Amino acid sequence: MNGIIFDIQHYSVYDGPGIRTCVFLKGCPLRCAWCHNPESQKPKAEISYFKDRCAGCGRCVDACPNEAITLTKKGVVRDNEKCTACAECVTACENGAMEKIGKEVGAEEIAEIVAGDKLFYDNSGGGVTISGGEPTMQAGFLFSLLQSLKNRGIHTAIETCGFFKEALIREIIDLTDLFLFDIKHMNQQVHKKFTGVSNQKILSNFEKILARAGSERIIPRIPLIPGFNTDPDSIDEIIMFLQQILYHGPVHLMPYNKMAKTKYEKIGRGHLYQDMGELSDERIDAIIKEMEGHSFHVVCNR
Ligand code: SF4
Ligand code: SF4
Repeated sequence: MNGIIFDIQHYSVYDGPGIRTCVFLKGCPLRCAWCHNPESQKPKAEISYFKDRCAGCGRCVDACPNEAITLTKKGVVRDNEKCTACAECVTACENGAMEKIGKEVGAEEIAEIVAGDKLFYDNSGGGVTISGGEPTMQAGFLFSLLQSLKNRGIHTAIETCGFFKEALIREIIDLTDLFLFDIKHMNQQVHKKFTGVSNQKILSNFEKILARAGSERIIPRIPLIPGFNTDPDSIDEIIMFLQQILYHGPVHLMPYNKMAKTKYEKIGRGHLYQDMGELSDERIDAIIKEMEGHSFHVVCNR
């Protein structure tokens, strides 16, 4: 079974226990206003462009079989309707100003690559984390990859936005040792306004996985986004939700940062970047204190 991935990162210590390898799958059903990985959103391969490296030579224009590229005073402009991501322009560019994001690979091939670090996983209590994008967008590929990892005795985790069909839980739960599961906001309308989808399916999936796997195998990850969910009421509502469904495990906090701006520009979607504002250390500290006050062990990646 083949799928489209856009990165493999070795020796990660932020995406689950121990030393891990992260495999990033392309495609996501959400469009979070603050997305840190906009290159993950489209389910297909695409081409990024580094304007600072472009010499304006026009080789890419000549190389494109689909006449998708125009050279303008502001640099290269690509018509994404015409572009098939064939990467002829990437090959033609001698300045490294273009890069292909996303490639098709087989589940077994990836499992072979990541199994090379098994010694590190075994010695550190680590394993492989499958991230994205949203891994369940390529459900068949995800199952094959998880199965291949399990066959090799490797601990598996998935990072998920939680927006997937309930029917997937039955198939995925036995192949996944740990779910790193995004919880963003309790208000349905606010959630939809900032992510493009309602939170109903997400919260329901969290509850169902918790009921079947227990607090040891699911960790809520809360992005802290100013202007969205860092006010006291929003945090309290998340705490209440976790208490009501009897979640007893740790909580991971992921404070907002502005580093994605360049990524949006490189993939020609600079106009979609939104600066969500400032999040002070004092406010992060207060949120940690509030959660710890309700007996949650908090891990904050800042
Ligand atoms: S990836 Fe292929 S189709 Fe797209 S702009 Fe480059 S050469 Fe043209
Ligand atoms: S080939 Fe590279 S350097 Fe030349 S115009 Fe295209 S992107 Fe710019």
